[in-house]
Order: sequence, then structure tokens, then C-alpha cells
Amino acid sequence: MKSFSVEPLVRPHLLNLKPYASARSEFSGKAQAWLDANENAYGTPGRTIENAFHRYPDPYQLKLKEQISEIKNVPTDHIFLGNGSDEAIDLLIKVFCRPGLDNIVSLPPTFGMYEVAASINDVEVKSASLTADYQIDRAAVKEAVNENTKIIFFCSPNNPTGNLLATEDILFFLKSFSSLVVVDEAYVDFTDQSSFVDRLADYPNLVVLQTFSKAWGMAALRLGAAFTSPDVLKFLNKVKMPYNVSTLTQQTALEILQNTEQYHSYITAIKEQRNWLITQLQSLETVEKIYPSDANFFLATFADAPDLYQFLVDQGVIVRNRSSVRLCESGLRITVGTEQENQLLVETLRQYQPKSILND
Ligand SMILES: *Cc1c(COP(=O)(O)O)cnc(C)c1O
Repeated sequence: MKSFSVEPLVRPHLLNLKPYASARSEFSGKAQAWLDANENAYGTPGRTIENAFHRYPDPYQLKLKEQISEIKNVPTDHIFLGNGSDEAIDLLIKVFCRPGLDNIVSLPPTFGMYEVAASINDVEVKSASLTADYQIDRAAVKEAVNENTKIIFFCSPNNPTGNLLATEDILFFLKSFSSLVVVDEAYVDFTDQSSFVDRLADYPNLVVLQTFSKAWGMAALRLGAAFTSPDVLKFLNKVKMPYNVSTLTQQTALEILQNTEQYHSYITAIKEQRNWLITQLQSLETVEKIYPSDANFFLATFADAPDLYQFLVDQGVIVRNRSSVRLCESGLRITVGTEQENQLLVETLRQYQPKSILND
């Protein structure tokens, strides 16, 4: 294991911060009357007492972490849960980056939240563009990093390009970079590659982000995870809002996570549909290039992409227009839908008359 000390990286004022303390956890087991939190002891209007929401949630979501620990094979003391993985992205920046001084490195084209969260926190974003085939440009990353770089964000499989980043490249920075390396694995469920969580024991500066919004179908519940060393975790817990994951989310996620069979069959169906869609699109004249995908979406480039995008919108088929994003020029990101939705997309694309052809 590489030697690592988190304290020198943390914003200094947080080292001695006293987090908000709920009295609950100290007394669970022996309490006969909870008169400490100004809740409504009678219950929730319209709910039986068993189904009420009148008590504050478990701030550390222990039951849910135990279940996630089994599914992901990560000890509970390496798990942070948040209001989507977006919360973990924001907290990492809050904990490690001094506004106006520190920076993060992001590898565009990639997920937009790293930059948004950094900007909200007045933290500079240094960009190290991916290569033309959407892989890590080691030289560009090395050049972007300076002594005030606190976090490098790698997204694998990458959004919006759909491809996995080369493991050796991520490992190179995990080994050589002394601050935090984040691997955002929002789409890892759709790949056959093993997760970076298997490497947590070797790299205490590693943070793996995963979400239950995509393959697990819980986008509306808002549940995301950061898997990391207990040293890093301690500071995420210190800075998070005390009750960041609601009881409704905790309870519902516990129920949903039991349905592993359906989870796997959805993934199989989504991959089959992805491959079907790609085959269908390949025969269309308007399609220029389809990028291979390890996710539940894919990127494709089209002749007249902005016009085609508008045509799809007019027909009620909404995809993501990435045509003005550098390295994604003429690109639309297409999420795999249900069989019916995918058929509608293909039929609608068939109806499209490229402007460039009409003008001939
Ligand atoms: C969708 C997505 C997320 C997940 O966000 P949540 O806040 O957990 O819903 C994180 N990272 C990437 C790259 C994504 O595409």
C-alpha cells in the first residue's frame, strides 16, 4: 500500500471542525423516550405509526451500508452514501479544494458535474482533453497538474463517449499523483471489467464513485456512493449535511437491492437493445460514426446533427445534443430505451431528410 496522509490535503479549517452531532447514535438501544430532536412524536398525518416518517433518518445509513457492503464487496467503513453521487463530487471539492487557490483536473469531453461543482465552489478546473479516441492523454494530464491540484476526475466508462478508460493509465496516476484520484464508475454495471473498488486497499488516495441512478433504476430516490479509505471518508462525513439520505430512500433502496435477478435481467436487456439500436443505425444514411459503448447509452455522429436533433425533438424523441462539445462535434448521445422507444427512434430517424440532401 502506498503511503498517504490525508490531513495535508484537507482544507486547513476543516481539520479541527466539530461537525453537527446528533444525539441519537449514542443512546440507541437504551432510549425509552426520544425527546431530543423536536420531532412530532405522534406520527405523520395520514400514516400509520409503522409507516410514519416522523423520526430523523440514520445519519450514517448503517443498515443500507451493510447491504451495499455485501453487494459491492467493500467494508462499510469504506462507504459514503449521499444524495446521488453528485453530492460526493461536491463534498470532495468542498473538503479538499481551497476556493481561489486549488484546482481540479477534468478530462473533457466528460461528465459536466465536476466542472459545475468546482465552479460553484470557486475552484479552478484544469482541462486535459482526452485523445481523439477518447483515452487518457498522459502528457496532457501531467501538464495540467500542478502543486495546487487536489483531485483528478476520471470517468470510466466515460459520459458522453461511452468507452472505458485504459486501466493502466488510471493506475499510472494513482501511483504517481499524491493527491486524490477519483474514478467515476456510474456505468460500471454495464461493463465486464472489474471495478476499481477492488483496488481500495492498495490506494488510500483512491475514491470510486458509483450511483444507483443508472443500472439500479433509482434515479428518483437520489442515492450515490463514494468508496474510499476511512481517512478520506472521515472528512466527507464531517462536512456532509447530517441527514443527507432520507429514510424513504434508505428503506426503499434496502428493498430494491434485494432484487438482484431483475437487476441483472434489465442489464442484459439494455445491452441487447443497445446492440440492436447500433445495428439499425449503422444502415442509416444520416449516421456518420457510432462509437462503441460500455454503457447504457452511446455516442453517434450525424450529418446535420443540430438539424436532426431538432427534428427528433419535434417528433417527441429527446436525445442529448452534444454536437457543440469539443471532440464530440456532430454528436448526439442516445440513451437506450425500451424496445418500443428504440423502435420509435429508428423509425423517426428513417423519416428524416437531411437538409444537405434536400438542398442538392
Ligand atoms: C449519471 C451520472 C452520475 C450520477 O449522478 P447521481 O447524482 O448519482 O444521479 C455520476 N457520474 C456520471 C458520469 C453520470 O453520468
